[in-house]
Amino acid sequence: MGIKVAKFGGSSLADAEQFRRVRSIVMMDEDRRYIIPSAPGKRHSSDHKITDLLYLCHEHAQKGIPFGEIFELISTRYLKIVEELGLSLDLRPILEDIREKVLGGYSVEYTASRGEYLNGLILSEFLGYEFVDPAEMILFTESGVYDSKRTLEAVEKTLAKIENAVIPGFYGSRPDGGIQTFSRGGSDITGAIIAQGIKADLYENWTDVSGFMMADPRVVKNPKPIKEITYRELRELAYMGANVLHEDSVFPVRQAGIPINIKNTNEPEAEGTLIVPNGGDFSRSGMITGIAGKKGFTVITIEKAMMNTELGFGRRLLSIIESRGISFEHMPSGIDSISLVISDNQLNEKLDGIIEEINQQLKPDAVDVHDNMALIATVGQGMARTPGISGRLFSALGSEDINVRMIAQGSGEMNIIIGVENDDFERAIEAIYYAFVN
Ligand code: ASP
Repeated sequence: MGIKVAKFGGSSLADAEQFRRVRSIVMMDEDRRYIIPSAPGKRHSSDHKITDLLYLCHEHAQKGIPFGEIFELISTRYLKIVEELGLSLDLRPILEDIREKVLGGYSVEYTASRGEYLNGLILSEFLGYEFVDPAEMILFTESGVYDSKRTLEAVEKTLAKIENAVIPGFYGSRPDGGIQTFSRGGSDITGAIIAQGIKADLYENWTDVSGFMMADPRVVKNPKPIKEITYRELRELAYMGANVLHEDSVFPVRQAGIPINIKNTNEPEAEGTLIVPNGGDFSRSGMITGIAGKKGFTVITIEKAMMNTELGFGRRLLSIIESRGISFEHMPSGIDSISLVISDNQLNEKLDGIIEEINQQLKPDAVDVHDNMALIATVGQGMARTPGISGRLFSALGSEDINVRMIAQGSGEMNIIIGVENDDFERAIEAIYYAFVN
């Protein structure tokens, strides 16, 4: 027998019907011992997320504007779920207590956290699992920084004695007893921390998609799902803009070497995506894992004959952007040339000053600026051992008449990053995708 921690997102717990699905998923596998709920999400596209409504209540309370109607929407949502599930739980006094506290000036963190708290109460009753308030285990410092050491000790100690528990996501507490939340979407983080603390065998993240896709479905029609991906590959794709897990939620489980399985509550039999520790299995070699990209970069290329003999050239170049608080994404170099790839939102109006200083300090032969660039990363752990991947990639781009303006490859040979014109972005992703997937 192993231990699984299962986190269910807002759409998985949006109404009574979804709660029933969740229960049957939990009951299917007795290893699913610790369950982390989010607050109820949207039931349809024009619906409200409970957390958003709670933030709104707090904002109104702060400004002295009545928020009774909004709070009513929240109460009705929860009471309806309780009623439709046929539970005897009486949430009314708890809801009233929360309303009074929000009115009385309780913090925004307290207010927002009640979405998960209430959903946790319902789910624990429905599953017959013990309710454990994360305020007692997920601990922050006075200044609101997550305190991993104290938290992991508390999680281990508390849950060692509890066979099955529901632990609401998204929040914990500070030493003064005040509630502290993670950033939005933070229930993912709670799940990962609980998995790390009790040394789970698997962290399941149940959502409304059957895992990650190889490419953005808005760009490639019906992209294939990713069955397995390493933490490092995931980081590469997330960094390049793929909309995956909450970044901070990966860290605790990655550190503990615990795999994450992204699953679909509405299609539980689908395998989903398994995120595994790095290294090991190269059975995927020959295939790429995924493609992601971002628009909006500028490339500054500096040319100077014999720059390699000039001591400190690179350092001086980088200090010019550093002194303006700018970081760079990539720095491809050639013989007598070096380029800096910088995202436009960092550059703002600073470009002219940078060029001027480069000319003054480095006396280059030429400085070339190319804006409106997009970066696209093709990621795959198996790439390093498979000849011909880049050949396939570049010939696909060539036959689509797409001009590649920059090429960079990570040291682990796990990705190939190309720079193309913003306008060629979608076509380039499609060309790469169909070069590897048919
Ligand atoms: N309910 C919180 C939010 O909407 C946290 C979460 O759902 O993970 O951000």
